Amino acid sequence: MKTVIIGGGISGLAAAYYLSRHQPSNQVVLLESSSRLGGIIRTEQQEGFCLEAGPDAFVRQKKKAAELCRELGLGSELIANRIANQVSYSWLDGKLHPLPRVLNPPIDLDQLVASPLLSPSGRLRASREPEIPPGGGVDESVASFMGRRFGPEVVQRVFEPLVAGVFGGSASEISLPAAFPHLLDFEQQHGCLSLPGTESASPSGTKAEESSFQSLRNGMGQLPAKLAQVLQEVVQLHLGSSVRSIGRDGGRFRIELESGASLQTDSAVLATSAPVAASLLEGDLKPISDLLGQIEYAPSILVCLGYRQEVVDRPGSGWIAPPDSGKALLACTWAHRKFDHRCPTGHSLLRAYLAGRSASSLLEADDRPIVRIVRQELREIQGVTAHPVVQRVYRLPRALPLYKIGHLDLVSRIKQSLRQTPGLFCIGNYLDGVGIPACLRHAQSVAAQGDPHRPSHSSKSP
Ligand SMILES: Cc1cc2nc3c(=O)[nH]c(=O)nc-3n(C[C@H](O)[C@H](O)[C@H](O)COP(=O)(O)OP(=O)(O)OC[C@H]3O[C@@H](n4cnc5c(N)ncnc54)[C@H](O)[C@@H]3O)c2cc1C
Repeated sequence: MKTVIIGGGISGLAAAYYLSRHQPSNQVVLLESSSRLGGIIRTEQQEGFCLEAGPDAFVRQKKKAAELCRELGLGSELIANRIANQVSYSWLDGKLHPLPRVLNPPIDLDQLVASPLLSPSGRLRASREPEIPPGGGVDESVASFMGRRFGPEVVQRVFEPLVAGVFGGSASEISLPAAFPHLLDFEQQHGCLSLPGTESASPSGTKAEESSFQSLRNGMGQLPAKLAQVLQEVVQLHLGSSVRSIGRDGGRFRIELESGASLQTDSAVLATSAPVAASLLEGDLKPISDLLGQIEYAPSILVCLGYRQEVVDRPGSGWIAPPDSGKALLACTWAHRKFDHRCPTGHSLLRAYLAGRSASSLLEADDRPIVRIVRQELREIQGVTAHPVVQRVYRLPRALPLYKIGHLDLVSRIKQSLRQTPGLFCIGNYLDGVGIPACLRHAQSVAAQGDPHRPSHSSKSP
């Protein structure tokens, strides 16, 4: 049997890897439009600085990514984030304030209520959370869910910046059950999110004294690079091969390339973003295309700035700012504080993040004005006046899918349509979770069921 995978990001590479293990007799071809593999994952080394253009870590508690690294022989390359620097900050009223831990219940209500981010009335309202009855488990926005539980101020000052930072969208449009299903589960199970006398877990759900994130010594790019190395023995990898269309041809699929070449295959795995996947499907595959086309994406811009001196004046790994702060920047990671091996000793590496409106308006701009805005805001927010010796701008017009209200229903309709189209699969960060571990789990579940002659190939949520 022959399978063609379209897209050589982590989803496509992982699908090729798991297919080669689960079905070694399967002939696998991977087509990637660009000249490199890895998609959003991209690491560049410049003057001793390890620059990440996309993800810089994976959540430690979701074990799939570390498991794959070990399987590939990268176990000794895994590094954990520095525990002493797990605190992060939120920028409000001209100051950086420690950010309470709110993403993994039970939430420490004492810590939240003591936060200088909240006004006296905001604290009073938040402190009533344990008395608020649970909702009906319906699809509602993060703002509606958290507003109901903790009050509007916690939404505006804590959740808006977090949601913008993680999903690039607004808390009023992002679906709580799609983006943070564990919060809904906890509410349904315990009746509230803050249990008296409990300490909040770290952002990834680990205990405060455990590291939350893992990465690779030489950056996240090591993972796709290693996958490519392993796969070149068993899979046909074609770079610079942009697919133009996919249609059905009898019981098989016909894949047309921009180059004019075409391929016939028993099975096709679409591992691109949803809008690209939508644009490729033709003929009787159009209904699936219409569903995929409904998933929207947010752009982002990442700016890496490397300095030959320490430019951070406190422990921690960075900060976020509310989208209505009047600043273009939404967040900044102190990369050299988060992980070792990110730059020479005594140097520092900042990763500034723009998303949503500020990113859209600057996507077409040259590097120079973008860097100027970022440096000016870093000066205002954290007092950085030093001159960077390395500056690199990465633009991602379709960075992250927006898990808007109705997303779960849309995904279930996409999966239903795919079940009715044996041999056609869609994988990627728009279905079962945006993080790398979710992409890996989804790719593996599709690879395990990737025989088009099997009747069902529904994928399981992570
Ligand atoms: C700024 C940012 C930071 C992130 N940080 C983290 C993090 O810290 N931790 C984490 O776990 N996750 C993070 N994520 C999410 C994670 O990086 C992505 O969800 C994941 O890398 C997506 O991989 P993918 O393979 O599904 O898609 P992509 O990486 O988008 O790959 C799709 C591939 O398809 C190719 N392609 C497109 N069109 C065609 C065509 N017509 N023919 C052939 N090939 C085509 C593209 O060139 C690309 O290589 C982050 C994402 C962003 C944007």
